[in-house]
Amino acid sequence: MADTALMPIPGQVDPVTVPRPGLVDGVTPRADGRIDLVGLPRAKIAELLTEAGLDAKAAKLRAKQLFHWIYHRGVIDFAAMTDIAKPMRPWLATRFAIGRPEIVEAQHSSDGTRKWLLRTADGHDFEMVFIPDADRGTLCVSSQVGCTLNCRFCHTGTMRLVRNLTPGEIVGQVMLARDALGEWPGSPREGGDLGRSGAPSPEVPAFAGTHYDDEDSGHYTADGRLLTNIVMMGMGEPLYNFEHVRDALKIVMDGDGLGLSRRRITLSTSGVVPMMARAGEEIGVNLAVSLHATHKAVRDEIVPLNRKYGIEELLEACAAYPGASNARRITFEYVMLDGVNDSDADARELVRLIKRYKLPAKVNLIPFNPWPGAPYECSSPERIRRFSEIVFEAGISAPIRTPRGRDIDAACGQLKTAAEKKSRAELDRLAEEKQAALG
Ligand code: SAH
Ligand code: SF4
Repeated sequence: MADTALMPIPGQVDPVTVPRPGLVDGVTPRADGRIDLVGLPRAKIAELLTEAGLDAKAAKLRAKQLFHWIYHRGVIDFAAMTDIAKPMRPWLATRFAIGRPEIVEAQHSSDGTRKWLLRTADGHDFEMVFIPDADRGTLCVSSQVGCTLNCRFCHTGTMRLVRNLTPGEIVGQVMLARDALGEWPGSPREGGDLGRSGAPSPEVPAFAGTHYDDEDSGHYTADGRLLTNIVMMGMGEPLYNFEHVRDALKIVMDGDGLGLSRRRITLSTSGVVPMMARAGEEIGVNLAVSLHATHKAVRDEIVPLNRKYGIEELLEACAAYPGASNARRITFEYVMLDGVNDSDADARELVRLIKRYKLPAKVNLIPFNPWPGAPYECSSPERIRRFSEIVFEAGISAPIRTPRGRDIDAACGQLKTAAEKKSRAELDRLAEEKQAALG
């Protein structure tokens, strides 16, 4: 958190966890005072065990065992940890916990998409979406409760940022999905409609959790798991919660942790230029950039962060992104807004920009998902098709994402708001406050 706290945030509220007495940085807060081990690196667990009275050698061994039980076996009860001495199990349970975000509401779409409204231990709601497909299952994970940025087409942008999620709350989403899918060793698989029988759809929307064309896709994992891919595309801007997202994804990628390949993880940013190189170096996952416009005036309006980090700067940062190559292309997300950013000239300008910066890129065309009171409409299907053709004809892949989970409002930001039943006037007021803060 310390580094993030120093970052200037163009919003009304900085995405910084307000320090509370007794709150250890990066540790998920709990009302019962026990320390939640989820999201903590092994070394930190060992340190906590030492502080609790174990000698260094024992602490290291126990930390390794705990890590295995937590991430390989999905165990949440110390009593089930059979290779830990019996008297030590209650000793651990009085001091530590293996938490999960609380499920407030779970919805299941007719197309197999699942959406959860989750709650942190200190009472903040956020969302997670799972999209099963013919060849993969993608989990759309949140990084913050709300968002400080105020992209005009995004529902999350109308919410106030409450706080950054902790590494435990971020990894916890993946673990919760594994719980729900019955994907821990020995657990019976629930929900027969989640898997390969789920409605096959070649394309899904970025905003609701997207499958991306990574190189090793095309099959579910050899161990038959359904959750194969992760996209950091839920609520929040992951690069404004850099350390926590990094620490969470390290556990997700750790062979002794959740063991998912970095090629199957995509981080989406609205363009926090100063953090992009670090994201490449310290996390190394696939990068998606929410470009959405090719001209300053339009991008300034729909992605206000553009006033701080402009298109050229952003594309230069993309060109320098460590690990980007033709085999691992950068995805440009482009939401199709009727009459705003969807002309033939926009499509040609998009091609020109990608070529000018020699970017190994693909474009995801996302039909705008409307929400009550949204100031835009989605472009017509013909317009989107034409836009896609122009980009394709220039040799750049530009698939159109088909919305998923429409019947459960699977676009991020919608379930939470539905639950809160915020009035339109309240939403307007929040949007105005943020706009004013952006200057
Ligand atoms: N904050 C990050 C990641 C979360 S948003 C970012 O902005 O990239 C994930 C993606 O969903 C972004 O590309 C965002 O622009 C898009 N999105 C948000 N609201 C949308 C809507 N109503 N319709 C279509 N796409 C939307
Ligand atoms: Fe925040 Fe991303 Fe929504 Fe913009 S699109 S308001 S950065 S969540």
